[in-house]
Amino acid sequence: MKHITIMGVPFIDINQRDFVSLLEERIIQHEKTFVITANPEIVMKANEEPDFMNYIQQATYVTADGIGIVKAAKMLGNPLPERVTGYDTMMQLLDVANEKGYKIFLLGAHPDTLHKTIETIEKNYPNIHIVGSNDGYFDWDRNDIAERISTAKPDITFVALGVPRQEKWISENIAQFDRGVFIGVGGSFDVIAG
Ligand code: UDP
Repeated sequence: MKHITIMGVPFIDINQRDFVSLLEERIIQHEKTFVITANPEIVMKANEEPDFMNYIQQATYVTADGIGIVKAAKMLGNPLPERVTGYDTMMQLLDVANEKGYKIFLLGAHPDTLHKTIETIEKNYPNIHIVGSNDGYFDWDRNDIAERISTAKPDITFVALGVPRQEKWISENIAQFDRGVFIGVGGSFDVIAG
């Protein structure tokens, strides 16, 4: 897969729809996948904080989440096709999950928001199996969340803890999982909850 590197961050050269198809392929193959959707602030953060650059390097794919990244790529003479955002990727993955009856786990947001997100998904995507969830205000040292994910083996885990917590959580826990897509989706649960 071709990459365009901007300030040390390797962005996958792919459009939104093909990216979701690629993730679906990896779900089918049981290949563990860590996705970071990176906007310009994340690129700056990665250059300021070695820990964050380390998360970027652990990610399977980093996508261009923001018109600023697409414009920068064009200016550097290596255009990227379009933005590939956390929210759009989540919504398209929910469609795929509903079509295929996939299992998902939801981690993040305030308890009320999480509850509403679950209700909305259950109503609009009846074939999805929500195999577990946890709100985003937990004690960082708790390891039962990763254990629950490890046991439930979701095809997709949406992690909505905000930047950089979501990337840090995935990075620190992914070794315990043997399959599934793990993607940081920022404020997406708040949008879905309405
Ligand atoms: N969030 C969370 N735990 C935290 C901090 C934030 O679950 O300790 C959630 C927050 O409730 C929201 C989401 O993370 O649903 C995104 O938060 P924010 O808008 O601050 O992140 P950003 O969009 O800047 O990544």
